[in-house]
Amino acid sequence: MNAIAGEVLDSISTATVERLKQLCAISSESGNAPGLHRVAAFLRAELERHALRVEILEETDANGHPQPVLVARGPGSGGRHLLLLGHMDTVLSAIPPKLEEGKLFATGALDMKGGLAMLLGALDVLAAREQHLPTDLLLVLVPDEESESLISGNAAGRWSERARAVLVLEPGQPLANGETLVAGRRGMTEWKLEVTGRAAHSGLAYWTGRSAVAAAADWCARAQGLSRRGGGPTVNIGRLVGGGADFVQDLARHHDMLGTSRQLNVVSDKAVAEGETRFLSIRDRDAVLADLTALAEKIAAEHEVSVTFTIGMQVPPVDPNGPGLPLVHRTVELAAKRGFHLEIEHDRGGISFPNFLADPANTPVIDGLGPTGDGMHVRGEYLNLDSLARRAVLLADLLATL
Ligand SMILES: [Zn+2]
Repeated sequence: MNAIAGEVLDSISTATVERLKQLCAISSESGNAPGLHRVAAFLRAELERHALRVEILEETDANGHPQPVLVARGPGSGGRHLLLLGHMDTVLSAIPPKLEEGKLFATGALDMKGGLAMLLGALDVLAAREQHLPTDLLLVLVPDEESESLISGNAAGRWSERARAVLVLEPGQPLANGETLVAGRRGMTEWKLEVTGRAAHSGLAYWTGRSAVAAAADWCARAQGLSRRGGGPTVNIGRLVGGGADFVQDLARHHDMLGTSRQLNVVSDKAVAEGETRFLSIRDRDAVLADLTALAEKIAAEHEVSVTFTIGMQVPPVDPNGPGLPLVHRTVELAAKRGFHLEIEHDRGGISFPNFLADPANTPVIDGLGPTGDGMHVRGEYLNLDSLARRAVLLADLLATL
């Protein structure tokens, strides 16, 4: 029932590589609306062959330009859905694809036209086995993941509100003995520390001054020291600016003070530090933010300065031990049945689709389902074609269980 003849699989592989070449030959760097429309039209024709209902919507990107968003649905209507997410844009414009020793060298071959071709291959495998797609399948492909991600982030949030699970077609990574699947992604919180000290002449009244720069630097060093290797939270000090209040509050006007002797004889009364913290779980986030807040109070008392610590933009983490874990394990088992070793990446650093889900704490998600290669975002980018074939079958196996 599950098996299909080897020659059928071979012809599906050949067709999948051919489609990937065609997809990669289309220039669809972020912002190139005509190119992105061509990719969407190509995919539409392929998806409609598998009886998916396809719409190409237009949404406005961060630069105010309309861009295509492809939405494809299975026959099920309303209710909850199985959401598949991907993007049609690339970082670079296309150059002619080149096939060499089992690899396709092409723009976006890995990130992530390979994932799109994999999906088309999986649909062919399911059709050849006469298996049905999940009827509630909903595929959403966005045009701006590689640039500002305005449409991408909104789409992931909006379309995941009623998702029973989310599959992300971004690439996994090759390993010496297999490949990876992504279970966890770090979240991020931006923060700002402002210190007000007391200005004083450093020669005449040094001990009456309270240095804002010294207090902020002390806080920064101890804050960075809260970072933990091996999956723990990290604190990054992105910027630290200090000096006289005039200097700090109007840097543009006073920047030429740098490198001169001006105001070096004044105990500084203002400092601002800005940065972010990254973490794998909400528990880690809450703990590190509580530590940073407590540290601000401690520094204020020790240095006799006033300190405010504020939190800015936040992106939630995808907990590697969250609701997606059973699905991740199922995928690893399905791969093992095909003789293919998949390892779970618990701690992927970059922010991607899963971080923008409406309710990441309650939505099962698997990321990194796409085939592997190397050279993401650079001219030498390539995709491993054996990985493409393997992962198309794996995705078909997975879809058949969902
Ligand atoms: Zn990508």
